[in-house]
Amino acid sequence: MNPNYKHGALMMEGVKLSTVASVIGTPVYCYSRGAIEAAYMRYRQAFSALPDTLVCYAVKANTNQAVIGALASLGAGADVVSEGELRRALAAGVPAGKIVYSGVAKKRNEMAYALKAGIYQFNVESEPELEALSDVAAGLGLTASIALRVNPDVDAKTHAKIATGKAENKFGIPWQRVRDVYRLAGALPGIRIQGIAMHIGSQLLSLEPYAAAYDRLAHMVVALQADGIRLASIDIGGGLGIAYEDDQPAPPAPAELATLAKQHLGHLGSRLIIEPGRSLLGPAGVLLAEVIYVKSGESRDFMIVDAAMNDLIRPAMYDAYHGVMPLVARDGPCKVYDIVGPVCESGDTFATARPMPEVTSGDLVAFKDAGAYGAVMAGTYNSRLLVPEVMIDGDQFGVIRPRGSYEALIGLDTAWQAVAVTDEPEAAPEA
Ligand code: PLP
Repeated sequence: MNPNYKHGALMMEGVKLSTVASVIGTPVYCYSRGAIEAAYMRYRQAFSALPDTLVCYAVKANTNQAVIGALASLGAGADVVSEGELRRALAAGVPAGKIVYSGVAKKRNEMAYALKAGIYQFNVESEPELEALSDVAAGLGLTASIALRVNPDVDAKTHAKIATGKAENKFGIPWQRVRDVYRLAGALPGIRIQGIAMHIGSQLLSLEPYAAAYDRLAHMVVALQADGIRLASIDIGGGLGIAYEDDQPAPPAPAELATLAKQHLGHLGSRLIIEPGRSLLGPAGVLLAEVIYVKSGESRDFMIVDAAMNDLIRPAMYDAYHGVMPLVARDGPCKVYDIVGPVCESGDTFATARPMPEVTSGDLVAFKDAGAYGAVMAGTYNSRLLVPEVMIDGDQFGVIRPRGSYEALIGLDTAWQAVAVTDEPEAAPEA
């Protein structure tokens, strides 16, 4: 459900994207509510063969309240990695009982907030985190339901910056220590063992790494049963990739993932949790931009647009590919452009040597597949205003985050004033 041309105009659902650009201005993110809902329903249907499955949307992909709310209204739970994300999920209507809390560095205050909210499960990633959670829960007179996030030491065959399941990654409990850490968990006050969790990476384009990880997971669940530990939930993480490039092979579908999960894990009798992010949101969003100048360089032509790396950082951060489409279909000559933004960094490059229909100043373009890890990673570097977001529903669109203002941006800074310290911490004794 990516945007498509109709009578020469690039449309998302029933809305001309050029209309959004002229009413809201550029840069602006646009999401198709229909595409988000359809992607979620594909997971639901795929996993209906495993009747006790909870789809927890990984809200880090896009934390807009309208996005989380749309998924919550279809019954989605949430996977969160901070108190901020937890607050967003709750505010958008996700019941606490459908929220899992992942992340390597939960702080005590965040644990306390989540415990009081009554979330479904903490995915614990280390012994010190487990001990801190026990301490906080016992101190509050509450019980934390936990899964241990294990590191199956499997190569997800994805970009190094989004691979999380190898032994050298910071994520999860090292495979060799998993049984010992469960024993520790069983002995700690305030802790109730509920499940096991893993997430081996993002933008996975093959089922092979999942098969290897599920296999290891299944063996671990059986080994734990022998230790007298029964796991009510198995969280298999997210990670299914999307086709950013038109001519790349189609990534595995949720149905194939569900078949694999059933094969390897279905017989264990546990609830399955799945945490998709990118595959729900990525293809459902575009970033619209205006061509400001076309500049002839010494060896190449630059298409300079008004969106920048601060709005969509994926190309600069992961060398990621995003298709670029003019908002008005063009049959004219093709040119080859480096597509760049206004930020004062050479890394502010969306595409290099990209063949495109010829464009001129004032033309509008859409960066495709920008619904996940786009707006949510945006910032205000170069004092650029935070990019607005729009949701399209049928033939209507609505603003779900307005463009910031310079007053608000500059107003975040305050005049210097000495901080009054009343209770100075004692200096550590000299070693
Ligand atoms: N679960 C966890 C713990 C994650 O860290 C992530 C992101 O990397 C996801 C789920 C979502 O992954 P994806 O957006 O690739 O589906």
